[in-house]
Amino acid sequence: MLLRIRDLDVTYRTAAGPLPAVRGVNLDVNAGQSVGLAGESGCGKSTLAATILRLQPPSARLSGSVLVDGEDVLTMRWGPLRALRWAGASMVFQGALHSLNPVRRIGQQIAEPIRLHEPSVSGAEAARRVGELLEQVGLPASRAATYPHQLSGGQRQRVMIAMALACRPRLVIADEPTTALDVMVQAQVLTLLRDLVRDLDIGLLLISHDLSVLSSTCDRVAVMYAGRIVEEGAASQVFKDPRHPYAAALAGAFPLIGDLAARFGPAGLPGDPPDPRHLPTGCSFHPRCPVAMPSCAETDPPAVPAGPGRTAACLLVGDPEREPA
Ligand code: ADP
Ligand code: MG
Repeated sequence: MLLRIRDLDVTYRTAAGPLPAVRGVNLDVNAGQSVGLAGESGCGKSTLAATILRLQPPSARLSGSVLVDGEDVLTMRWGPLRALRWAGASMVFQGALHSLNPVRRIGQQIAEPIRLHEPSVSGAEAARRVGELLEQVGLPASRAATYPHQLSGGQRQRVMIAMALACRPRLVIADEPTTALDVMVQAQVLTLLRDLVRDLDIGLLLISHDLSVLSSTCDRVAVMYAGRIVEEGAASQVFKDPRHPYAAALAGAFPLIGDLAARFGPAGLPGDPPDPRHLPTGCSFHPRCPVAMPSCAETDPPAVPAGPGRTAACLLVGDPEREPA
């Protein structure tokens, strides 16, 4: 197992009190596998992603374990952590335009992590690897000589992916990598990520609030709500036949991938996710849930099996009398 997260809690200390952003999360990613993380804004996706490289601010309190290749990132010393951030796992962020240095050629920027991490690599060898990386992400090697402003948004995002691959990581975490791109370019970048996972045998954790992005790219998906994973399973099943009412509502908001007769209609859900500092009692989703029962305000449901290779955290799941048809 490349990535194995168990019982992870991440709580930010804030002036207005503790803010539990990630609560009791379990998640696995294998080599050669793409796992998607879905959920509305504020549900804890970016916090979970940052924790894998221990990139969250010092105000965060962590418990549980985050094993990358069997080593717990949460208790790792600085040396191994630094090595992990270079070569074990890497991150692709949203907004490539802003993370590239406008006054340096992109070839220099892609070469930088290689030269820092592997000081024995010669200039010529680094340049050769840059060319190879550019070709891997579908850009001509000659683009190494250009500046960021000479590239389109989609090309800049490819450069970001090339940088993430520069030190040959085994795990790539991509947080909303295509959100700023138009739909056609988005599809190309997603195809690229999917091909890289297959060809390089890397594990990919892909975060998006857009279910169509996840369903076209991922093998498995986890749906987060208020810091918890409320449903997890094969991507093809979770969105076509969601078991948790929140996953059903999300799928219903993307009618092209959900069942057209989506249970709660394509209008989506009223309201917003709760402020983690003031979580509702019981199931955090119950105030917005179209099928909530009185007991949902009392019991915070654990994740239970919801079919082969699937789990869901809902009192209705596993109860044949009440389960929604
Ligand atoms: P998502 O990526 O799903 O939108 P985030 O992980 O960014 O969710 O945020 C989860 C919760 O944690 C939100 O309530 C957000 O306001 C809060 N949060 C995120 N980063 C910080 C931080 N550095 N300090 C305090 N609260 C934070
Ligand atoms: Mg986010």
